[in-house]
Amino acid sequence: MDINITKKQIADAAQTAYDYAKGVTGGANANYIPFLANIDPQLFGLSVMLPDGTAVNLGDTDYRFGIESVSKVPTAILAMRQSSPKAVLEQIGADATGLPFNSIFAILLENDHPSTPLVNAGAISACSMIEPKGDSDAKWTAIVDNITELCGSAPQLIDELYKSESATNFNNRAIAWLLKNYNRIYDDPAMSLDLYTRQCSLGITSAQLAAMAATIAAGGVNPLTGKRVFDRGIAPKITTLIATVGFYQNTGDWLYTSGIPAKSGVGGGVLGVLPGVLGIAAFAPPLDSAGNSVRAQAAVKKFMETLGLGVMNGDRVTITE
Ligand code: GLU
Repeated sequence: MDINITKKQIADAAQTAYDYAKGVTGGANANYIPFLANIDPQLFGLSVMLPDGTAVNLGDTDYRFGIESVSKVPTAILAMRQSSPKAVLEQIGADATGLPFNSIFAILLENDHPSTPLVNAGAISACSMIEPKGDSDAKWTAIVDNITELCGSAPQLIDELYKSESATNFNNRAIAWLLKNYNRIYDDPAMSLDLYTRQCSLGITSAQLAAMAATIAAGGVNPLTGKRVFDRGIAPKITTLIATVGFYQNTGDWLYTSGIPAKSGVGGGVLGVLPGVLGIAAFAPPLDSAGNSVRAQAAVKKFMETLGLGVMNGDRVTITE
């Protein structure tokens, strides 16, 4: 079916979703990273961006929160830009593990095809793939520059979060060395882990994440800068990864009920991509038991439902003034 939506309808749906989700309670801040446990649980922002750069921002959309697992999306894109989608498939994989994001079991069970770049093991592998190999500073610059190009503005390291995470990331240290054991890490394991931890500690706003989402939805062209950030062919690959594992072990339920591929992080952020149509991001710290923001989920779902949109609906969507 052909569906036409006006920009006003999009703004109204965002307002409806924001008002609805503001009243949704429940969940708790991530507590295994001390810094995150202390973030104000009332913070809440919702941002939408269209491929032409039109933006809707409601609530705390300028607040810089820890990007956490959402950082796995840009770094997977960077690995595809530098190598290729095929190399990422061969060296990391593209299958959902069906297990928690930090699972050791997943590595043991699937050692011939261990992961996807969107869970911890695969994300540490992705950091190891980033060029130039062996040069931590240059790799870090490449990771941050890529995020800046995707958002149209720079993220900022939250030093306290980086320290908090580095001091407590024992499980991830085990993952890095297990990957080494299975020849699934392509640079120094300790350096790759440190880059992963640092990228998770970047502060980002929901407005920036919506721009990143819109860049993916627009097939690689950033709506704010007009610059082509990545080849068009990468967009369906990254969106596939997001659709299959973006919400950890609840990904199927999420896609089934929301209709939008989305990636969440334990900092409370969610980035959603409706290919060809729009990018959306929401942020609220309290998480459900799988590690997904309760309010952000409620807001994104309500937005999709209000507009009658869904990636599997088979509709041709056009947006007009
Ligand atoms: N830095 C976090 C970790 O590795 C990210 C987890 C997440 O957001 O899923 O545990």
